[in-house]
Amino acid sequence: MSVAGTQHEPVDALVIGAGAAGLFYGARAGEAGLRVLVLDHATKPAEKVRISGGGRCNFTNIHTAPENFLSDNPHFARSALARYTPEDFIGRLARHNITWHEKSLGQLFCDGRSGAIIDMLVRELQAAGGELRLDTAIGDITRTADGFEVITSKGTIGCRRLVIATGGLSIPKMGATGFAYDVARQFGHTVINPRPALVPFVFEGRDKTDFASISGIACPVSASNDRAAFEDALLFTHRGLSGPAILQISSYWLAGEPIRIDLLAGTDALDKLTAFKAEHPKKSFASALETILPNRLVNLLTARGDVADVPRLADMSHAKIQEAVTALSHWSIKPAGTEGWRTAEVTAGGIDTKDLSSKTMESRMVPGLYFIGECVDVTGWLGGYNFQWAWASAYAAAQA
Ligand SMILES: Cc1cc2nc3c(=O)[nH]c(=O)nc-3n(C[C@H](O)[C@H](O)[C@H](O)COP(=O)(O)OP(=O)(O)OC[C@H]3O[C@@H](n4cnc5c(N)ncnc54)[C@H](O)[C@@H]3O)c2cc1C
Repeated sequence: MSVAGTQHEPVDALVIGAGAAGLFYGARAGEAGLRVLVLDHATKPAEKVRISGGGRCNFTNIHTAPENFLSDNPHFARSALARYTPEDFIGRLARHNITWHEKSLGQLFCDGRSGAIIDMLVRELQAAGGELRLDTAIGDITRTADGFEVITSKGTIGCRRLVIATGGLSIPKMGATGFAYDVARQFGHTVINPRPALVPFVFEGRDKTDFASISGIACPVSASNDRAAFEDALLFTHRGLSGPAILQISSYWLAGEPIRIDLLAGTDALDKLTAFKAEHPKKSFASALETILPNRLVNLLTARGDVADVPRLADMSHAKIQEAVTALSHWSIKPAGTEGWRTAEVTAGGIDTKDLSSKTMESRMVPGLYFIGECVDVTGWLGGYNFQWAWASAYAAAQA
């Protein structure tokens, strides 16, 4: 970037990234008496908040605990999460008359549009004396005697604290960049391989054709591998598999691995199938299965040979029913890959927490440099956990 001539007044805290974490930090640091400037290259702030939760922002999860996050250091998030809780954020919403409801599994959504949260974040920043400057490209960052100097498309800005809140790589068309990782590396930090997470799986060959043929069908399952298991809905799509259970397990998936799907999770399938056989001995096993699973899925599973149909249940022994139940509850499929950054809800991996203070998010190597939000190697499950991390990590940094 060419050096823009204007030298702006230095600020106490310069925040790069006006997303969930950056705006929240700006307001809290402003309230603590710092002169804050928040910059973003986008023309609108917090666009991911806007599209989140289907437009109603699943802004937190009341069951938030360190166990709901992936990180190379599972303990890192503990301190920040304990010091800024879902209840704290709910209290803030109440002060802004933003109403909400719990959907399921502790997930809290706005009753209205997510724009209400963005308005709250921007209003709080401004009320605390902070400034928001959008449409500003960021160039080189250098260290100075008392802080940092940042070249931007609108001039050069000096600051005592530099807070990087530019998020991860997911959804590049919304302006996601690897800026935070570049800054981290520039200052000697390690970046743990960023990878798409909370992302649908894609399949190839017969699996792809098969799943596409029942695209739109959903059913409750348990999706698991050796590291995690999630009970929630699975959705067949034109490219493969999606739905909350699949998005969750994708964060724990390593390329080339199969995933296990329990298609009968929570159904008491053996009891139901046995009772159906007693009542309808002349009906087929497929028709018995259709009392538990969607018809089109049953047709597909029998056509693929994943489970064998038997024309008359009377001819099917209890052991054979049990065998079929075992096959359907250990359905193993190998994704060809994921939909990648284009649709990933978050980025797993990121700035290694070993060189950050878990109390303040400050770099252990470069005093005055902070990393907050999704760019840090702390990745939440689906269900409001990622915003809770954005609020909590921003709050921790602002208390420093
Ligand atoms: C479709 C979708 C739905 C989601 N729904 C939910 C949900 O309901 N609940 C939940 O908890 N999480 C949800 N998430 C995840 C959540 O949005 C993120 O984890 C959260 O926004 C991260 O906050 P952040 O402030 O760290 O980063 P972001 O919110 O991504 O903000 C980063 C900001 O930095 C700016 N930026 C990036 N690069 C640069 C650069 N080089 N120069 C200047 N500015 C830059 C961006 O323009 C952006 O404004 C969803 C994500 C997606 C994609």
